[in-house]
Amino acid sequence: MSAKHLNEIIKAIQKANTILVATHVFPDADALGSQLGLSNILEGMGKTVIRYSEEPVSYLYDFLPDCEKLICELPDLSQIDCVIVLDCGDRLRVGKALEALLTIHPMIVVDHHTGHQEFGDLRWVQSGRASTGDMIYELSKALIAEISLDAAYCLYAAIVADTGSFKYASTTATTFTIAGALVARGVNPEQVATKLFDNFTESRLHLLQTVLSTLELSAEGKLALITATREMFELSGAASDDTESFINYPRALTSVKVAVFLKEKEGAISVSMRSKGSQYDVSEVARKLGGGGHRNAAGCKFRNGETLAEAREQIFALLLPLVEG
Ligand code: 5GP
Ligand code: MN
Repeated sequence: MSAKHLNEIIKAIQKANTILVATHVFPDADALGSQLGLSNILEGMGKTVIRYSEEPVSYLYDFLPDCEKLICELPDLSQIDCVIVLDCGDRLRVGKALEALLTIHPMIVVDHHTGHQEFGDLRWVQSGRASTGDMIYELSKALIAEISLDAAYCLYAAIVADTGSFKYASTTATTFTIAGALVARGVNPEQVATKLFDNFTESRLHLLQTVLSTLELSAEGKLALITATREMFELSGAASDDTESFINYPRALTSVKVAVFLKEKEGAISVSMRSKGSQYDVSEVARKLGGGGHRNAAGCKFRNGETLAEAREQIFALLLPLVEG
């Protein structure tokens, strides 16, 4: 889509001395891998870099190099020449620092979300691209910047995570070319896969056991729903981020076209949706409910005190016609 600003982005980065790099709230591996990878590359170019995150890094991703350099408080913004916002499909995903960060110019936005809603001064948006991580690789090449092994590791993790291990429809020959270049740089794919996927604690596995028992199939098995209630978290002792990847289990059913995961959180119900192929666009459904994402992976939140049953009803009203249509 819009690569019109790429040259200006390169010039702005070259000119800046102090750069703040941010990503979306509750960052996943693509968000953090892109943020930490790019920050490391910018430091290699001699820049002073501030890595801002609203929350401390989840234990799931604390293996990513440089994650200890993330700060959760905004610094004095007068010293910042440029802010780079990564992997945010719209401005609200930036979180509570949004207003403050919008006062910094230029604000550079790099993103790959379907239905990206433009914000910031300079944008490089490629909807449908596999991950922000592989865009950062390309940006680094355009900057003629050195990609350290740490940065390569972060970008590779970002790509693996956002492609569902190269399984999603967004995976292209370019994705493999870039992933291949990162492996050639020295990244060990087995090590990254182990850190990303073979990372369960016992309480997390117990939570998975309970959540899978809630499986509900509709529309002749084309629509699958799993649910995690607050009580399940309490009984298992697992934490909210422990549900990462649970959605892949109902998605793995042969018959399933769309899988949904409802998670009861403090003050909200979080919805994850996954679909297969190009026929079922879950990002469109997520947007109708105030969220966003990609064709095959999207999400939204219910924040107005809805019960799980009410959230389920609203989602099914949109998804049943989609899978039955
Ligand atoms: P996940 O299901 O892994 O939490 O999210 C899948 C995709 O949907 C991600 O690309 C994420 O950016 C997007 N997404 C998830 N929740 C929300 C949300 O509440 N708002 C928006 N705009 N996007 C979301
Ligand atoms: Mn992403």
